[in-house]
Amino acid sequence: MGSRFPERDDPLLERRVALALFFVGSVVCGVGGLLKPDLTDGARTVQLAASGGLALLGVLVLATPGRRTPIHGAALTSVALLGLMLATSNALGPTAFFLLWPLVHLAYFSTRARTAAGLVLMVAVTGVASAVNPFEVNRADLFVGTVVSVGLMVVLVRLMSERELILRRALADAANTDALTGLLNRRGIEPELERLLAGGRLSIVMVDLDHFKRYNDRHGHLVGDEALRRVAGVLTAAAGPDDRVARFGGEEFTVALTGSDGHGARAYAGRVMDALRAEDVAEDLRLTVSVGVATLGADGASVDALLRRADAALYHAKATGRDRVASATPLPHAA
Ligand code: GH3
Ligand code: MG
Ligand code: MG
Repeated sequence: MGSRFPERDDPLLERRVALALFFVGSVVCGVGGLLKPDLTDGARTVQLAASGGLALLGVLVLATPGRRTPIHGAALTSVALLGLMLATSNALGPTAFFLLWPLVHLAYFSTRARTAAGLVLMVAVTGVASAVNPFEVNRADLFVGTVVSVGLMVVLVRLMSERELILRRALADAANTDALTGLLNRRGIEPELERLLAGGRLSIVMVDLDHFKRYNDRHGHLVGDEALRRVAGVLTAAAGPDDRVARFGGEEFTVALTGSDGHGARAYAGRVMDALRAEDVAEDLRLTVSVGVATLGADGASVDALLRRADAALYHAKATGRDRVASATPLPHAA
C-alpha cells in the first residue's frame, strides 16, 4: 500500500544533527584540551588530537552528502576517540557522558545492528580505558557507571525511535485508507496514480453506483454501507496485483489498471458488472454501476487530464441509461 509519509529515513535531519555533533564536539573537546589547567602533556595531546579527529569526521560527513554509512562509521570512530581520552586523561570529569552523543545519534537514526555495534564498542573501549588509565583510582565505578548509564539511555532512545516509527506507519496507513472499505482513499491513490503514470501504461476506471441515494432511502444507510463494501470486494477481486483500487469519495470508486489498454480496461469493467449481476443477493439488493474508462495514449497525459476524461466518460454512461461502460474519447492529437 502506498504511503506519502517518510518512514525511517529523514536523511537531511540525520546529516544535520551529525554535523552539529561532530563540529560542536570538536570545539568543546579542543577548548577543554586547551583550558584544563592540570592536564598532563600526554593527556592534553590526546584530547587535542581527538578534537582534530572529530573535526575530520565532520568534514567526512560534509564530503559525503546523501550517504548514511559514513555518518554511522564516523559515529563509531568517535566512540573510539572518546575511548582514547578515557584511557589517557588525568582529569576525566564528564568525558564519559560524551559517549552519549554518537550513540544516541546511532540509536535514533541508524539500524538496530549499528546501534548494537556502537554499544559493544562502547563497552569494550570503556573496559579497556578503565583498566589502563594510569590516573584512575575508581576503575570499577568508571566502568560500571559509564556502561550502565550510557547503555540504558541508548536502549531507551532506540525503543522510543522504533515506537515512533510504528506510530508513523500506522498514521500514514490510516491517512491513506478508507475506513469503511479498507481500500485506498483519494489521498492514498493520488501518489499511486502519479507513480503508475510514470510507468507509461495506465487506464483509469471510474465506477459510480447507480441510484444509490434511492438504495439508501429504501434499505437504510447501514445496508448502503454494506453495499459499498460489496462493490469494493468485487472491484478488488477483478483487479490484478499491480492494479490499485480506491474509494474516491461517496459511492464512487477509482481503479488504476496498470498495463491495460482501452480493451483491457473495458474487459475489467465487464467482469465487475458481471460479478455484480451474479451476486447471491435478493433482487431488491442487487447493485448496478456506471463506469467511465480513460486510457493513457501515446501522446501522454497528466493524471488530472486522465481523471477528467474518465469522469466525462462516466457522466456519459449515466446520461445514456446507467448500468454500462463508456470510454473517453481519445485526446486530440495535439493535446
Ligand atoms: P446516480 O445513479 O446518478 O449516481 O444517482 P445516485 O443516487 O447514486 O447519486 P447521488 O449523487 O444523488 O447520491 C449518492 C448517494 O450516495 C447519496 C449518499 O447518501 C450516498 N452515500 C455517499 N457516501 C455514502 C456512505 O458512506 N454510506 C452510504 N450508505 N451512503 C453513502
Ligand atoms: Mg451514484
Ligand atoms: Mg456519485
